[in-house]
Amino acid sequence: MAKVLKATAIEKCNGCELCVLEAQRQLEKVGLDAALIRVFTSKEDGREYPTFCIDIDPRINSIDIERIKSICPKFVFKIEEE
Ligand code: SF4
Repeated sequence: MAKVLKATAIEKCNGCELCVLEAQRQLEKVGLDAALIRVFTSKEDGREYPTFCIDIDPRINSIDIERIKSICPKFVFKIEEE
C-alpha cells in the first residue's frame, strides 16, 4: 500500500508555510515554482483571524512526506495508507 500525505487538521494551520518550504527544498526549487503544496488564506466576514486552506498535489507522495509531516508545528498532517 502507498503512503499518502493528508491535511487532516487544517483548522489548526497557522499559515506559516513551513510545509511549502520543505517541499520546495526537497525539490531544490526556489519560490513557488511548481510547488506541490500551496497554502491559501481567506478572511471571512465577521472573523477576526484568517483561515487557511491547503492544496496538496498528489505528486507530493513521491518525496519525503514524513519530513513534511514532522516540520509542521501545528500537526496538521497525517500519513495514511491507501
Ligand atoms: S507547516 Fe503546518 S501550520 Fe504551517 S502552513 Fe503548513 S500546514 Fe499550516
